Amino acid sequence: MNTRTGNLILLGMIAGAILGVLGGWFLPDVFLSLKFIGTLFLNALRMIVVPLVVASMIVGVSSLGDLRKLGRTAGKTVLFYFATTSLSVLVGIILVNLIRPGTGVEAFGAYVPDIVAESTGKSLADVFLSLIPTNIFRAAANDDILPLIVVSLLFGGVLATLGEKGRPVLAVVEGINEAIMKIVHLIIWFAPVGVLALIGGIVAENKESIIELATSLAWYTATVLLALGIHALVTLPLILRFMGRQHPGRYFLNMGQALATAFSTASSSATLPLTMEAVETKNKVDGRAASFVLPLGATINMDGTALYEAVAALFIAQIYGVDLTIGQQVIIFMTATLASIGAAAIPHAGTVMMVLVLSAVGLPLEGIGLIWAVDWFLDRCRTTVNVWGDSIGAAVIGQTRDFRDN
Ligand code: ASP
Repeated sequence: MNTRTGNLILLGMIAGAILGVLGGWFLPDVFLSLKFIGTLFLNALRMIVVPLVVASMIVGVSSLGDLRKLGRTAGKTVLFYFATTSLSVLVGIILVNLIRPGTGVEAFGAYVPDIVAESTGKSLADVFLSLIPTNIFRAAANDDILPLIVVSLLFGGVLATLGEKGRPVLAVVEGINEAIMKIVHLIIWFAPVGVLALIGGIVAENKESIIELATSLAWYTATVLLALGIHALVTLPLILRFMGRQHPGRYFLNMGQALATAFSTASSSATLPLTMEAVETKNKVDGRAASFVLPLGATINMDGTALYEAVAALFIAQIYGVDLTIGQQVIIFMTATLASIGAAAIPHAGTVMMVLVLSAVGLPLEGIGLIWAVDWFLDRCRTTVNVWGDSIGAAVIGQTRDFRDN
């Protein structure tokens, strides 16, 4: 796909988003009945994620050649992602303390949403346990990306040590990888219509909460957006400029299709095919780095989610009149960071993981019910920041010595 076509499709997606908002608001019935078109687009993306992660991981890892290099790259990637996520949480905590959006808001009628109530038994140990699947096919069937990453890492690494014997297998996986990227290109053609239908459907469904967004939860929404904005438009671009050696504006424009898809699907994992395409093909980041760093990033690196969880928890504390000490805020800082690592890359996952954050400092889970009405919107915003953060991680790791020298 050449740049001109790519830009036209991006314009189509932006037009689709604008028309979706207007259409969903003024013609809700029409857009509710057209929702299935958006679902079709989403399904197409989700269909390709599992084979894409497995094939690109195996190719990426085995092309690194040396297992020590792999260990170093994995270490740097995790460290980088951890550092950027912490920075984003910090911005969130500072702003919510300054703005105090929760003072004066009534906690009347709070409830615990169903999907939140179902997951109250989850602990952080479950996240570690899920790294090694007992059955790789079940993991694939359940869209559990993290265990698939672990298995692909292992398989690619071992394949590389086999020499002659491993080469034909690798050639097959490389062919599969190329074919999958072609399919991704085909799906991208469909993106403007997909975005139109997804956004139109969600606006039509949430007309009521849009009023809420603009009234009682306005300060809260504004605080989250401002914090996300600072992280996405100041912190991350500076890191990209100085550590990733890329021009932030150009890099951002090239990520346009992926970011628009993140906003319309509210899922980093469904967006992954487009993220990989944009980072490798348009932003010319070393493919070996991108194919390793991006799938990992989509699953464990969620700057937007972590920031959101910290702001939401402190907002809930403010509503209930709980004065949190610095120590308790540090606990929120840590649990929000860890909960974002454990959150699945699917819609609302971050809010469900808030159970961990709230329980850590003894805040009422009903607080989640108060912010649930606007979650469909804030979820999209934080997912966009999550994907943006992942893409910057790929640029930075692509500039490390292991990739620059050869
Ligand atoms: N929807 C987000 C993502 O896929 C996760 C979250 O709910 O914060 O990145």
